[in-house]
Amino acid sequence: MSIGWEAAGASDVGRVRSGNEDAFRMDVDRGVFLVADGMGGHAAGEVASRLAADTAAERLAAAVDDGVRGAALDGALRRGFLAAYDALLHCCAGDPATRGMGTTLTACVLEPSGTLRAGHIGDSRLYRLRAGRLKPLTHDHTWVQREVDAGRLSPAAAEDHPHSHILSRVLSEDISPEPDLLATPILPGDRLLLCSDGLYNMLPEPEIAAILAGPAPLPALAASLVDAANAAGGVDNVTVVIIVISG
Ligand code: CA
Repeated sequence: MSIGWEAAGASDVGRVRSGNEDAFRMDVDRGVFLVADGMGGHAAGEVASRLAADTAAERLAAAVDDGVRGAALDGALRRGFLAAYDALLHCCAGDPATRGMGTTLTACVLEPSGTLRAGHIGDSRLYRLRAGRLKPLTHDHTWVQREVDAGRLSPAAAEDHPHSHILSRVLSEDISPEPDLLATPILPGDRLLLCSDGLYNMLPEPEIAAILAGPAPLPALAASLVDAANAAGGVDNVTVVIIVISG
């Protein structure tokens, strides 16, 4: 079986923030898609997310062009994250104003044979919509998620917890990156969504699923998700990449 895909993305500053620290990259021909959500003062968050997304996207594109496939793509993903980390280190060393900047990074590579491979650090998410059910494929690297996993906090208490936005893992100059890696089969009809927390913190998952399942052209669906997050308050930057898998 061989699959194909179409994709569309959108990013918006939201209704409260003055700058957009999110970034996304789409390389539809190679099947490489990334979302990054930066943090840091004096616009350093914007630098971090763009630099990480550009660097990792470039490495992954080169791996695909070199014919890297299957499990070997895990190594390519790891090297992409490491290259992004090196780029951040280099930038921080050369420009003190960017010290302490960091970013989430969620990167995926689609294989025509029908496999999705992804690497992930932080609290941006990759979801899969299949048969009407929206399932997160990534695991948030947040303090509250760690407490929930350890059984010290209930999922309900985690939702409105004041520390819900504190990241337990992020791509920054502080520590060499350890991305989670995942591989899963994808089927014709699946829809994938990469997004920053500015989407899922504003919209309940059933609402995200309903919009994502819509019949509109993909760019309109991406715009609808952003519009809905803004209509719900838009307290953060919001970024989405939608991928529809065909047979
Ligand atoms: Ca954010």
